[in-house]
Amino acid sequence: MKKISDYRTIVGDAVIGELYQKAKALYGKKVLHINSTFIGGGVAEILNSLVPLMNNIGLEADWRVLHATVDLYNLTKSIHNALQGEDWMLAEHQKQIYVQASELFSAYAMIYHDLVIIHDPQPLPLIDFYKKKQPWVWRCHIDLSAPNPDLWDFMKGFILRYDLAIMSKKEYTKKDLPVRQRVIQPVIDPLTRKNIPLSDQLIQDKLKEFQIPTDKPIITQISRFDKWKDPLGVIEIMKKVKQKVDCRLILCGSMAMDDPEGVEIYETVHKVGKDLIDRGDLILITFENSLLVNVLQRVSSVVIQKSLREGFGLTVTEAMWKGKPVLASNVGGIPLQITDNVDGLLVDPQDIDGAADRVLELLKKPEWGKKLGKKAVEKVRENFLITRLLRDYLDMIYYELIIK
Ligand code: UDP
Repeated sequence: MKKISDYRTIVGDAVIGELYQKAKALYGKKVLHINSTFIGGGVAEILNSLVPLMNNIGLEADWRVLHATVDLYNLTKSIHNALQGEDWMLAEHQKQIYVQASELFSAYAMIYHDLVIIHDPQPLPLIDFYKKKQPWVWRCHIDLSAPNPDLWDFMKGFILRYDLAIMSKKEYTKKDLPVRQRVIQPVIDPLTRKNIPLSDQLIQDKLKEFQIPTDKPIITQISRFDKWKDPLGVIEIMKKVKQKVDCRLILCGSMAMDDPEGVEIYETVHKVGKDLIDRGDLILITFENSLLVNVLQRVSSVVIQKSLREGFGLTVTEAMWKGKPVLASNVGGIPLQITDNVDGLLVDPQDIDGAADRVLELLKKPEWGKKLGKKAVEKVRENFLITRLLRDYLDMIYYELIIK
């Protein structure tokens, strides 16, 4: 099991010591996390690391997953999109499907914990099906800056019963939500297979195993096949770059269990990129493999994150941690991570020409990319590692259970 002390060499003793001190008042406190998937996407990624560390430091942390049907996944994907601004509203029968999933869960999952943390919209209605005896926290990982107003009003009906809402960015906190709100920025775990240092030999072996040639510079975007991640925009950038410098694009996007739109987007990407695929200049990867993500980020000359909306964007942090120059859209949580021209590059998501020019510049001046990457590593070490998240959670739990 993961241990807090494993992180000493990465973040230093002062950080580790502070965590041990903060945990003392919370020994044995039972904390329950509920989300809607064990794998795929940023929330599962974080819980996989956070829950064992909470246990290691002395809390009793539990993680349960809402059992969801395909109908619910379809629906919650639309909810997710509408909370990020799309024009869509739940019909009456859809509201029933949404709420019934929580009701069903409540029939077989007991909650006896001291604190309940609900992640994202899928399990939000659970609060209506339990006798509430403890603080309930809604942890929202979505960009909530401009939600569809009708849907937001409906969701608020549930959120109002919560004790606290946690957002990833100050701009996502809601003035029309009379519930305490807190900002906690997401993080990565430097000791997972996705982020650990890799030997050159292992990298070469994996490239061979996955048949990834390295005869040209590699540009990569690691992201679910999702319209907000704009894979088609990445292909447009790549086509422009390729007119001047030969390179290869890899789009790596495992299909998350709760993401039914993925197949459709993948097929469109395949169609649009067919000529590049046939020439071996576009590689599409659709399976989940953390080590491969690690390898791809390390062998890339440039990592792109061309999101149109992005709650936070863990893939940006992951690539920065590997010392890579990341070129990413100036949207959502991305500018919290990248300072333009200092530790990465920010671009307007509509400006394909501008993005292509900057990718070209990075390909032509690798020393500049290395300089940005070096700064990026330090930015992540200071701000976006799992130890910082654990500290924020301990502070939050202390406030909810002891101070309040
Ligand atoms: N991811 C992965 N394989 C893929 C695509 C994504 O392991 O093919 C991981 C990625 O490395 C990151 C997470 O899924 O850890 C995505 O988190 P992010 O915040 O970037 O986006 P989300 O999917 O939550 O919108």
